[in-house]
Amino acid sequence: MKAIQITRTGGPEVLQIAEVESPTPSDDQVLVDVLVAGVNYIDTYYREGIYSATTPFIPGFEGVGRVLHDPIGKIASGTMVAWNTAFGSYAEQVCVARDKLVAVPNDFDLSTAASMLLQGITAHYLTHGVYELADGDNCVITAGAGGVGLLATQFAAAAGANVYTVVSSDEKEELSYQAGATHVLRYGPELANQVRELTAGKGVDVVYDGVGKDTFEQSLNMVRNRGTVCLFGAASGPVAPIDPQILNEKGSIFLTRPSVAGWTSREGEFQMRAQAVVQAVVDGDLKFRVSDSYPLEEAAQAHRDLQDRKTTGSIVLRVQEVI
Ligand code: NDP
Repeated sequence: MKAIQITRTGGPEVLQIAEVESPTPSDDQVLVDVLVAGVNYIDTYYREGIYSATTPFIPGFEGVGRVLHDPIGKIASGTMVAWNTAFGSYAEQVCVARDKLVAVPNDFDLSTAASMLLQGITAHYLTHGVYELADGDNCVITAGAGGVGLLATQFAAAAGANVYTVVSSDEKEELSYQAGATHVLRYGPELANQVRELTAGKGVDVVYDGVGKDTFEQSLNMVRNRGTVCLFGAASGPVAPIDPQILNEKGSIFLTRPSVAGWTSREGEFQMRAQAVVQAVVDGDLKFRVSDSYPLEEAAQAHRDLQDRKTTGSIVLRVQEVI
């Protein structure tokens, strides 16, 4: 089968198309024919070696496709499914854990299906888990026009929160307002002060910060007394280690660094969050923006665009020409 294979970690150029052996599913997996693969920031961390995997490896975790073979015959061949936990998804075939498959309605948009689970579940657990937003709460979301950002904004606005987002361009500002942001801000040294002004000096209840290095210090400065800083990513680079005493100085604040795995680990939690995302899409309450799609062979360009901040919403790889 065709796949993107990484033989050494590094820049986007290490994403090379290759002919490799098809994988063989274990008894708790099914083999899936991939139609469209999701591209996520985490894929760039593996490509760069920030998160480690043994080389050679096929990157990617997410996609949509049809079941080819279930070793125990539980799921019919041809069933359309989506997933977000199958390492090796930048390929024509991948093995997916049976209990992490999500059935996709027949008329579902395939670009949305390929990108909805990782970013959608993340947006759901941030706003309905890490800090459960309620009517009138104040939150900040960095990278407000990104994949997770647009979705978290919609969930937060639907919960009745005041949503302050941070973006880097006029186009992204417009998209963030369309998603329901109350006020859209730009990065810079004044960011924390601006957030304090918007909240009458108090600070927000929670900051959802997926940018990391460049925004972290300001995130600590913009939460209220006993508020929560949720550092969920590192798009600008990893945050340096901190002295816990700083959490005291900033106002007895809470700091958490969550993961999808941790926030879908309870009995039934993965399916609960996945179904919440799918249902919100079906009901028209959660709009996905897939700004770009690339042929599988152009995975390197997809990573360049993502890391150069050129994309908005989600992006996907066309493994087969179905979208
Ligand atoms: P995005 O679509 O949000 O792309 C990243 C965005 O980060 C860019 O578009 C850009 O938006 C912003 N950004 C700010 N500074 C930089 C920089 N120096 N270089 C590049 N981008 C920058 O990606 P995703 O939605 O896939 O992921 C967003 C974040 O969420 C990532 O950090 C990712 O690792 C994290 N994540 C965490 C998960 C978890 O469970 N912990 C799960 C899924 C994602 P702008 O130009 O507006 O600043």
